[in-house]
Amino acid sequence: MVNFEGTAVEVKHNNVNSVNESAVASSDEHPNRTSEDDTRQEDGSRKKRQRDRKQPSGRFLKRRHYSISKAARDPRDEASPTEPELGVRSPSPVIDFDGLSRPSRGTRDRLDETPEQAAERLSKLSGAVRTILECLGEDPNRQGLLGTPERYAKAMLFFTKGYEENIRDIVQDAIFHENHNEFVIVKDIEVFSLCEHHLVPFTGKMHIGYIPDKDVIGISKLPRIANMFSRRLQIQERLTKEVAHAIMEVLKPQGIGVVVESSHLCMVMRGVEKTTATTVTSCVLGCIEKRQKTRNEFFNLIGLNRR
Ligand SMILES: [Zn+2]
Repeated sequence: MVNFEGTAVEVKHNNVNSVNESAVASSDEHPNRTSEDDTRQEDGSRKKRQRDRKQPSGRFLKRRHYSISKAARDPRDEASPTEPELGVRSPSPVIDFDGLSRPSRGTRDRLDETPEQAAERLSKLSGAVRTILECLGEDPNRQGLLGTPERYAKAMLFFTKGYEENIRDIVQDAIFHENHNEFVIVKDIEVFSLCEHHLVPFTGKMHIGYIPDKDVIGISKLPRIANMFSRRLQIQERLTKEVAHAIMEVLKPQGIGVVVESSHLCMVMRGVEKTTATTVTSCVLGCIEKRQKTRNEFFNLIGLNRR
């Protein structure tokens, strides 16, 4: 059992694990440099050595850094002053105004596309899948595979359909003034997501609990919000955070807690091949974060403390 403090991760995802460390560890040394490189550079001038190192190292750091943080915000997603909102406050550090902008422009294009553009997208994606099949050494023209590129392309678009949804459309006016100030918990929401590092699934359960500040949200909206964020390319830590912050933003409860327990196929089928490992992530905000007693009550109610 872990001691939950704010945002916690139990079994860390092996890839995510290394990200921050690599990003801060080396400011000058490129990790892929070979001893051959070193020998060559021994002969060259100091200037050349610096030039050789500088570029790949800078690129490496930048890429690693951004793989864990959110992508740049799409200016079109900023709150417009004229737009009436359903109580959506200023953008939180995790989600943008309507929950659409990560990974930005491309997903908005997808939402606004014409039928012709949709057909073009599908054909381009199918072509890419055909290339994958060829690279695997398969014959894309054999009978069993004839329809596979298009089927997979459609499946992929379905797996990522959360990019076409936003908080506003999901919540609409389903916030009710009930004067209820006790825990509301929805447990065991099934989540199916795709790990953004390997494009393979991770699946599991999400538990969402909040303490209202008088207002409650329509209970079916919680699984829908979980769906919206999980049907995107994700890492589990971010998924957990995004759901918590989104609910915090639209509902403004006294506190919110989100816990995700899941199994990552990229861990199970490759890499460390740990078939029984479960990754647990949590994000608690507001009074659930501040008061240990409330936090423990939450973890007891979702059954996390009893295992
Ligand atoms: Zn992965």
